[in-house]
Amino acid sequence: MRLHRIEPLIEADALSARVRDLAMQISVDYQGRDLLVVGILKGAFVFCADLLRNLHGLRTQVDFIACSSYGVATETSGVVRILKDLNEPVTGREVLLVEDIVDTGLTLQYLQAHLHRQHPRSLRTAVLLDKPYRRQVSVQVDYRGFEIPDVFVVGYGIDWAEHYRHLPYIGVVRFLND
Ligand code: 5GP
Repeated sequence: MRLHRIEPLIEADALSARVRDLAMQISVDYQGRDLLVVGILKGAFVFCADLLRNLHGLRTQVDFIACSSYGVATETSGVVRILKDLNEPVTGREVLLVEDIVDTGLTLQYLQAHLHRQHPRSLRTAVLLDKPYRRQVSVQVDYRGFEIPDVFVVGYGIDWAEHYRHLPYIGVVRFLND
């Protein structure tokens, strides 16, 4: 691993306040309805858990889908592969896809198409972090936490080569000796 340090970008307090706001909006939008929340592993697992615990007045079920990510590198390959598909049926259900980061948009585009093919009653997407600068495809994002610059981030479930998922804040990886 290259010599680096982690520089805080979004503190834990700001994250929890924003996640509560998003959850409140989702609670209003789906009031009294059944919602299948689909977290994208592994990066969205903390965001998904915090979002769920702040939803009120609706019935939820939770499932997870895993797809290939950056692996050990910090650049996307652009190739998306499903490593673990859903256990719950999607057809006819109200589905909320929960993602950690939208960058090029390729991952979300692929997963949204994958779910649409199974004919959900509705499909919306919540994203914690939006990096709009390298977008290659336009994707629908219904609930957005923060817009961030084009930097490589870790923490709050998001890793670098499986490290740093435990950090309670979002930090930027700064490489030393560059
Ligand atoms: P995409 O480029 O397809 O929008 O994003 C691909 C995936 O790369 C996302 O699911 C997200 O988990 C991951 N990703 C995007 N930016 C970063 C980043 O700054 N740090 C980490 N660890 N993963 C990222």
